Amino acid sequence: MQTIDYKAIARRFRPQRFCEVTGQDVIVKTLVNAIKRNQVSHAYLFCGIRGTGKTTLARLFAKALNCEALSESCEPCNQCSSCREIASGQSLDVIEIDGASNRGIDDIRNINETLGYRVASGRVKIYLIDEVHMLTKEAFNALLKSLEEPPEGVKFFFATTEPQKVLPTIVSRCQRFDLRRIELAEIIKKLRSIAKEMNIEG
Ligand SMILES: [Zn+2]
Repeated sequence: MQTIDYKAIARRFRPQRFCEVTGQDVIVKTLVNAIKRNQVSHAYLFCGIRGTGKTTLARLFAKALNCEALSESCEPCNQCSSCREIASGQSLDVIEIDGASNRGIDDIRNINETLGYRVASGRVKIYLIDEVHMLTKEAFNALLKSLEEPPEGVKFFFATTEPQKVLPTIVSRCQRFDLRRIELAEIIKKLRSIAKEMNIEG
């Protein structure tokens, strides 16, 4: 019997373009419009229960902001060096931080110290902090300073399952998105298309 590598399947079918994101149409439209109009905010807060695709969407947005060959509809090309680096987690422009294990003031101070270093010209430096609600109060306050006066070309993307635990002064400085729970019908539709692509009869 064939064994199934579920993690590999999840990776393979993780949305790589905005049109592949399931169930978050309004948010996707807002993000695409921000790129089109060149009105991208300094900070975004992606809220939602597990599995709604917060970090996937944040990564996708980061990819679109740094893509060297963005399509007319603002889809990342997924082929340029920036897209490939971000996809493999090796980008120097997109720094992913797990807020659960880097929650102290020293962790945020370390981040603050690197803010001024620009990497490649024309690119945006993005700090993506997952589970941001886990930060200590002192860490939030240290982060607040950077949020108030971010260096040019620096953006913060936060993801959280518990927005009510994020310091209100942080929330008020972010554009907030509440990802909705994905409907069963949408999940079934997505699974059908995955099964079709994998040639599984169902
Ligand atoms: Zn690209």
